Amino acid sequence: MKHFPIFLAVENRRILLSGGGGAALAKLRLLMKTGARIEVFADAPAPEIADWAAAGKLLLHPREMRPCDLPGAVLVYAADEDDAHDARIKRLAEAAGVLVNIVDNLKDSAFITPAIVDRDPVTVAIGTEGAAPVLARAIKRDLEDRLPVTLGPLARIGKAFRSAAEALPFGRKRRDFWADYYFDEGPRALADSGPEGVEKALGRLLARHLCAPTRAGHVALLGAGPGDPELLTLKARKALDAADVVIHDRLVTPEILDLARREAVLIDAGKQGFGRHTPQEDINRLMIEHARKGLQVVRLKSGDPVIYGRLDEEIDALGAAGVTWSIVPGITAASAAAAGIGQSLTRRGRNSALRILTGHDTAGFVEQDWAALARPGTVAAIYMAKRGARFLQGRLLMHGAAAETPVTIVANASRPDQRSLASSLATLAADLDDAGLLGPAIILYGLAPRAAEARLPELQELANAP
Ligand code: SAH
Repeated sequence: MKHFPIFLAVENRRILLSGGGGAALAKLRLLMKTGARIEVFADAPAPEIADWAAAGKLLLHPREMRPCDLPGAVLVYAADEDDAHDARIKRLAEAAGVLVNIVDNLKDSAFITPAIVDRDPVTVAIGTEGAAPVLARAIKRDLEDRLPVTLGPLARIGKAFRSAAEALPFGRKRRDFWADYYFDEGPRALADSGPEGVEKALGRLLARHLCAPTRAGHVALLGAGPGDPELLTLKARKALDAADVVIHDRLVTPEILDLARREAVLIDAGKQGFGRHTPQEDINRLMIEHARKGLQVVRLKSGDPVIYGRLDEEIDALGAAGVTWSIVPGITAASAAAAGIGQSLTRRGRNSALRILTGHDTAGFVEQDWAALARPGTVAAIYMAKRGARFLQGRLLMHGAAAETPVTIVANASRPDQRSLASSLATLAADLDDAGLLGPAIILYGLAPRAAEARLPELQELANAP
């Protein structure tokens, strides 16, 4: 992000604009929606500007901007559509320490004006840092269609009611009240009986919410999937949207954490500060403490929580504490990795069973039914196996597995930095050492990547879709 979006207080403050032509008109139409004091500097202003000046909507100076004009201004627009003029205004603004925008000149501007969807007091600003104005316009159009025009009046009436709503305790109860107002009672009352009806409805709604029993806390044990936010389930998205607290593992990607409700408290349960891994008892205690306060807790685990997620320990602790819980499954790393190499984890005539194993657990390398794994055609998804690859290779070869058995390692499955390494049992450990793969990796034993040229890159596929 090269430009940081903020909303600037401009009420009764001076905004200066140099220019009187088309570019000036376009900017002025936007600026006149604010409560700023607008001053225009133009020798030959367009008739509209003269009319606006006559109507008291702006102050018109029929001359050039001078250094003495700038002190006290919050913004300056250079809209002369002339490089020499623009450069002069830029110098004046910079000398006075006032932020300047040169119309249609991103490079020399200190700020840019976004595309705006105006549902005052709700304002949506859309910026693409100059990369794609067409995209900004398309998003604006989409939002204009989607945001009802009643949003403005509802927000204005709601704002006046904020102090009354403080009778509700801060947090979920107050949020539920406002959600009810904006998405249900408010629009209905406005449609049925106009603004006065909305004010009455707010009073009734508050009384109802004040008497409603407090919702109990809850823990949702949620699968975050392998990393691509688009691979989250709708249920997971909804739970993240409603979360008060999110306790997440180290492997959950920042893009997914970004989807949590903005006010949600994020707790990294893999944080160094707690030791390399937060002890399981501490995680249990955190979940229980927050749920007992009536909060909606999301325990966010990478992939599918039912696979190597230490789920039973957490469920037992929650159950013993009398806290309600639910499980939302997710896409496990094995599925994403197989998809990433264009393969299926099962195939008629090759393997009717899929084995899921872990390379090591808390006690170290794990012994498996090696003889069964060594049989031809076996397919296994081996989690947490990077460190144990040499051990695995040795055991399997010792039990008679063919040295040429295909083995594929997929790191960062579904993420932009996904990498797959085609190897064989004979060379697995050496290949892994050479490749130095970073990030979480899974071993698909018994599978080779399908020939890459047979597959279209995902983006191209989307672009070609009807
Ligand atoms: N519950 C998770 C697994 C947790 S164990 C799931 O269902 O996927 C952690 C191991 O999962 C990692 O050591 C790695 O083997 C695997 N893993 C998790 N995310 C991965 C990813 N994006 N790509 C490859 N492997 C991944």
